[in-house]
Amino acid sequence: MTTRPTIGVLALQGDVREHVRALEAAGARPVPVRRRSELDAVDALVLPGGESTTIDKLLRIVELDEPLRAAVRGGLPVYGSCAGMILLADRIEGGIEGQRTLGGMDVTVRRNAFGRQVDSFEADLDVAGISDAPGGEPVRTVFIRAPWIEQVGPQVEVLARIPARATDGSPVAVGAGKIVAARHGRLLATSFHPEITGDARVHALFVNLVREQV
Ligand code: GLN
Repeated sequence: MTTRPTIGVLALQGDVREHVRALEAAGARPVPVRRRSELDAVDALVLPGGESTTIDKLLRIVELDEPLRAAVRGGLPVYGSCAGMILLADRIEGGIEGQRTLGGMDVTVRRNAFGRQVDSFEADLDVAGISDAPGGEPVRTVFIRAPWIEQVGPQVEVLARIPARATDGSPVAVGAGKIVAARHGRLLATSFHPEITGDARVHALFVNLVREQV
């Protein structure tokens, strides 16, 4: 069993540095992944937030799309945040013409789901496996042009839903009750960005999931 697993962060676009910091804080050894040889050397991978259509295009350009699909099918643990969640979804709504995902999670994700009125917001979320641990606090989450999960297959575990109220107490305008964190086997996805709040508990959840596999 590896105590400090090597976890790649796909570094084609998006907030790579923040994930590197959060993974370090969670006890992993993060490495950027831009090419096949780097992908082959990791125990697990993080797909960062950014722009899923751009990451999709770049993956094809650097010819990492098929190796990554094969790695996911082969059981590589992957955590996708925001755009990364979109990339992990088997089905996508609101994608651009020709947009593809890597797939692997039996979920339908709606891209840019919160709409134009709610570009970004923060909420304190109960996340299964984190806030329900002894002494666990809710997780402060940041949503930025985020997707949500419309529908999940039978093997998918729902970890968090949008609450009725935002952190400032105002009612959430859109999306109350929608699924924003889920796990399907070795794949974990969140609509939000735990890497930018300085709370490494979601990354720690992923690192533990990785440790179980090694
Ligand atoms: N809206 C973006 C997309 O479709 C995701 C935003 C994000 O990752 N913060 O990829």
